[in-house]
Amino acid sequence: WVKEGGRAGFRFHVPRKEVDLLSRMRLDHDMRQALAEGRFRLHYQPQVELGSDRVIGAEALIRWRDPQRGEISPAEFIPLAEESGFVVAIGDWVLKEAVAQAARWLARGLRMPVAVNVSALQFQQPHFVDTVAAALRDAMLPASLLELELTEGVLMRDTEEGLRRMHALAALGVTLSIDDFGTGYSSLGYLKRFPIQRLKIDRSFVQGLPGDPSDVGIANAIVQMGRALGLQVIAEGVETEAQRDFLAQAGCHEFQGYLFARPLRPDEFEQRVRPRRHVVDSPVSGWLGLA
Ligand code: C2E
Ligand code: MG
Ligand code: MG
Ligand code: MG
Repeated sequence: WVKEGGRAGFRFHVPRKEVDLLSRMRLDHDMRQALAEGRFRLHYQPQVELGSDRVIGAEALIRWRDPQRGEISPAEFIPLAEESGFVVAIGDWVLKEAVAQAARWLARGLRMPVAVNVSALQFQQPHFVDTVAAALRDAMLPASLLELELTEGVLMRDTEEGLRRMHALAALGVTLSIDDFGTGYSSLGYLKRFPIQRLKIDRSFVQGLPGDPSDVGIANAIVQMGRALGLQVIAEGVETEAQRDFLAQAGCHEFQGYLFARPLRPDEFEQRVRPRRHVVDSPVSGWLGLA
């Protein structure tokens, strides 16, 4: 038992580890219930191209509002779901929903590539490639409109099988990108061997731009390396014009961040990319996504 100082002087509570275990078990239970009851949602964060200001893609980000707890961040429940294995079920739902959304948009004339986060455990499922192929087939979505965001952790595990799987996904026509690039402990050799098309510069390296010399060095190095390898490079978590301007002069032309837009509900996302009123009578060509 721990005595802890506080406003009331002191209070007693159960040891921290047990509190954690209990609250984690509760969170795990509520998470399973949320999926069963259809209470997860996806929001979509625009990815913007410099110069044209076009929205060139949308990252699907899971949202969970619990009646009692309120909004729970994926940064909180995804790691727990990864430990318990439940992330596979969540990931399947996310994949189906994001692909279905992209297909709905396409049916209404909005051709918008959608990026889905894939957790390591999900990627390791023996049938992962089949699952992706089936999701695309069921929604009749061209594979070119789906991007899968893998982390360095995913790429480092079980390399031979992982490599085979990535080639199978690339053969389907799916785009593969590396999320949070630069935060993992991995050899850069995989950039050459793996069929990756895009690097996402992690927000932690964008934050300190342009003042922090280490961030400047890292951001420059990632952009240069990406270019040399013929990869697209997008910066995550861009919040200020100074960050955007630095990245632009460094040679990065794709951005995602609050400076441009927060993750949006699907209807808000549509509003964002929908052109002004006067072209509404041309629904197909009118979308910015087709411009
Ligand atoms: P991530 O994939 O790196 O996603 C980017 C995160 O940065 C998102 O947080 C997004 O809302 C946030 N963000 C975007 N722009 C800015 C900005 O300008 N400033 C700041 N401070 N943040 C910004 P979110 O939605 O809370 O997601 C956190 C993480 O949870 C994601 O990081 C991803 O690793 C994981 N995640 C989210 N949705 C899913 C999912 O459907 N499946 C899996 N496996 N993981 C997910
Ligand atoms: Mg991501
Ligand atoms: Mg990221
Ligand atoms: Mg992240």
